[in-house]
Amino acid sequence: MEGLMMMRPLKIADLLEFAASNFLNGEIVSVRTEGDIHRTTYRETAKRTAQLAHGLLRLGINVGDRIATLAWNGYRHLELYYAISGIGAVCHTINPRLSAEQMLYIIHHAKDRLLFTDITFVPMLEKLSPQLPPDLRIVVMTDRAHMPEGSLSGLLCYEELLEGQPDQIDWPDFPEETAAGLCYTSGTTGNPKGTLYTHRSTALHAMMVGISLLNVLQAGRRILPVVPLFHVNAWGLPYAAPLTGASLIFPGPKLDGKSLFDLMDRKKVYSAWGVPTVWLGLQAQIKAEGRNPEGFADVVVGGSAAPRSMIEAFEKSGINVCHAWGMTEMSPIGTQGNLPIEAHSLSLEERVEAKCSQGRRVFGVDLKITDDDGNRLPHDGKSPGNLYVRGNTITSGYFNDEEANREAFDAEGWFKTGDVATIDENGFLMITDRAKDLIKSGGEWISSLDLENVVMSHPKVVSCAVIAVPHEKWTERPLLIVQSGEDGDAPQEELLEMLSAHFAKWQLPDDVVYVENLPLTATGKVSKLTLRKQFAGHTLSDPA
Ligand code: AMP
Repeated sequence: MEGLMMMRPLKIADLLEFAASNFLNGEIVSVRTEGDIHRTTYRETAKRTAQLAHGLLRLGINVGDRIATLAWNGYRHLELYYAISGIGAVCHTINPRLSAEQMLYIIHHAKDRLLFTDITFVPMLEKLSPQLPPDLRIVVMTDRAHMPEGSLSGLLCYEELLEGQPDQIDWPDFPEETAAGLCYTSGTTGNPKGTLYTHRSTALHAMMVGISLLNVLQAGRRILPVVPLFHVNAWGLPYAAPLTGASLIFPGPKLDGKSLFDLMDRKKVYSAWGVPTVWLGLQAQIKAEGRNPEGFADVVVGGSAAPRSMIEAFEKSGINVCHAWGMTEMSPIGTQGNLPIEAHSLSLEERVEAKCSQGRRVFGVDLKITDDDGNRLPHDGKSPGNLYVRGNTITSGYFNDEEANREAFDAEGWFKTGDVATIDENGFLMITDRAKDLIKSGGEWISSLDLENVVMSHPKVVSCAVIAVPHEKWTERPLLIVQSGEDGDAPQEELLEMLSAHFAKWQLPDDVVYVENLPLTATGKVSKLTLRKQFAGHTLSDPA
């Protein structure tokens, strides 16, 4: 027998409408690329979002069209999130740190119709322009006075798009499964893969995050997403904050320790969210100042494992660390590390130990670990296995990418994370290794296999491997290990020059090591496990 309850579609626009009518004091503060600080409210944001939506409709944007953004964290980017999805189009956030090759691939793959950009990225777009789709229109996210002059023709001005448009809109009705957001993540080989979020998955994720992190997500609290809006929707904050009434403080382009400290201090940020690399900078500034930023009480660390020393330093100075784990394909939050009330009596050491784990699953995300044959392993905290996930906020398939989809799921339909983990009897997840051949540097991916493919094309290289070497600042950095042939070694400069043609500068290996033979596994593949152990202590120069 079916129940008798209404079925209303879950829609992203409703989150902002809710904030606009319920949280009159909810603020959005942004450091702008123009250089100043901008303040607004949820109510004002709802009005400007309506104007922007009318502007998009006037440009002929239809349900399902992909609209790209190339922008830092700021109020205009937030308006785009809501206006684009509100009219049934898809907000495709582009990571500006990608190589030109990868960026062009995803713009073409997504078939973006419009691209909204911060002023900062206009010179980069000028360089890419010969390879951009000819019908792609570019909107610069600024006012007329700040519009850049340059070689790009036909640039539209963001503020002019809004000007004169009505500040109310009746958002159209469509099914909750309608696509709302698109975010590409690195593949182990080949091209990036797109995760296509729905209205339903996004609204559910906002609720899941709101419930799981209700210690910070509340009206009156100020949250700083250092995690970019182009990284899995800033971990869902643009949706969870309006839902709960928390204010958002957007840092703009300056993410160094001093800039973050000053902003947090001035704006009394309660909780800040980001990858470990940015917290190293903040911790150095805290040390230099001899105090925490005023009001700072909580930090959410994710994207890479939070080092024990970092957790300890924050906890020692009275800042609660929430160590979270997730993936682009998971919207992204899968687990979070706030400890249960019973744990509040733990000593500092015990607390730090517990927080080195990635925490427990959020409601709606199922976890399982298996051996290589797919048999489930016990949740005993001792048996590491391949980590799989399932739930309403997890991808059911990459966007237009059959090849990637063939590998992504097991026979029962669980999504393969590529992480290796243990789970203990209380549900605490500990990531112990990574099965996917990727390197994560400062929260950004580098594909070992893609680097290796280019290096292998050098005539003097017989075999090679790129592995992740632990790095204090960037968590991991790539090291290239080369086996040369009879003609001697390919010079390091030549190899790096070859790679530069395909990769961004920060993706290049920091060092090249030449070996006589690369260790092999029983099946004749290069044993990266052996190499990782062998080079664990290898010292790299700082690529900053
Ligand atoms: P992304 O899709 O870029 O968010 O990357 C997701 C991947 O980052 C995961 O599959 C992990 O390999 C890694 N990751 C994310 N959070 C953590 C964490 N807290 N500890 C260890 N690895 C993490």
